Amino acid sequence: MYFLSSNNLTRSRWYWTKKIVKCVLKYILCKGELLVGKLLIFNALEMSFRKLNIQRNNNCPVCGDKPTITKLIDYEQFCGVNNPR
Ligand SMILES: [Zn+2]
Repeated sequence: MYFLSSNNLTRSRWYWTKKIVKCVLKYILCKGELLVGKLLIFNALEMSFRKLNIQRNNNCPVCGDKPTITKLIDYEQFCGVNNPR
């Protein structure tokens, strides 16, 4: 399959790395359109993007006015996974 050829994949990885670096620079330099208040959805099957406007939820337990979740949890313990390494 052409899409999954190693050469194409390498080029694709470099392409996305450049995109991410440009995006980070935009935030550092406050230039261009930032995704503040927006949700960017990438559909890898269709290779398409959608941008949705979102509003802050004042009751959000993480970033709302009175957050109740203030630190990360141990997901392996939370999910009951016992995976000794
Ligand atoms: Zn939130």
